[in-house]
Amino acid sequence: MPALQPVAIPALTDNYIWAMVHPKKKTCLIVDPGEALPVQHFLEQHQLSLSHILITHHHQDHTGGLSELLDTHAPIITGSSRSPCPYIKHPVKDQIHFTVPDLELEFETIEIPGHTLCHTAFLTQDVLFTGDTLFSAGCGRIFEGSVPMMYASLQKLAHLHPSTRLFCGHEYTVANLDFALTVEPDNQAAQQHKNWALHQTAVQRPTLPSTLSLEYKINPFLRCSEPSVIQAAEQHAYQTLNHPIEVFKILRQWKDQF
Ligand SMILES: [Zn+2]
Repeated sequence: MPALQPVAIPALTDNYIWAMVHPKKKTCLIVDPGEALPVQHFLEQHQLSLSHILITHHHQDHTGGLSELLDTHAPIITGSSRSPCPYIKHPVKDQIHFTVPDLELEFETIEIPGHTLCHTAFLTQDVLFTGDTLFSAGCGRIFEGSVPMMYASLQKLAHLHPSTRLFCGHEYTVANLDFALTVEPDNQAAQQHKNWALHQTAVQRPTLPSTLSLEYKINPFLRCSEPSVIQAAEQHAYQTLNHPIEVFKILRQWKDQF
């Protein structure tokens, strides 16, 4: 089976709307349409029908295009059963498997609350749509959940297969790596990846997808048990930290002020 290749549709300031296309059926699945126009252009350019939409969470920059898209298309819209988004007609809970026949794809849901309480990731083969929970070299802010909740959600994702490819909701990689290198100035993998990400950005190409195996090396929020990260967090907080969750809490506060 050929590797699935989601396509990035840039939207708003730094959002990515992801598209999956069935080239023979000319059908398309869209993830998190924060605005309608770039999706309309993509569909017209490739002469596709919009079959399905996945919503990772209810924030406007991930759902703002739904109303307009529904004026001219009739996609099935899947999202969390906890989501306040009124357009979700196929509500799902955690660990649900569902098929999208028009794309010949099977998805699994992974509830990852923290950024919002309804946040859900979608996994198909090695493709993971992480929304605003896990970014390359970073993680989302905690708006609705708690620190332990967000930590547990990130750990859930971290335990997927290391070859899992991450399709995130924003292009934040360079800024995230600036923070990662403040935490771990001697992290060679993060420095190398920053050089690559700067080049990608300069030629206006996405730095995504990332992979879990890369994130283990460069993402401080997945490295809360590493001695170098623990030491940096302890120095920042002027206290001894005895659990990875405490390290994560300090990192998240540090990044919020960075
Ligand atoms: Zn968000």
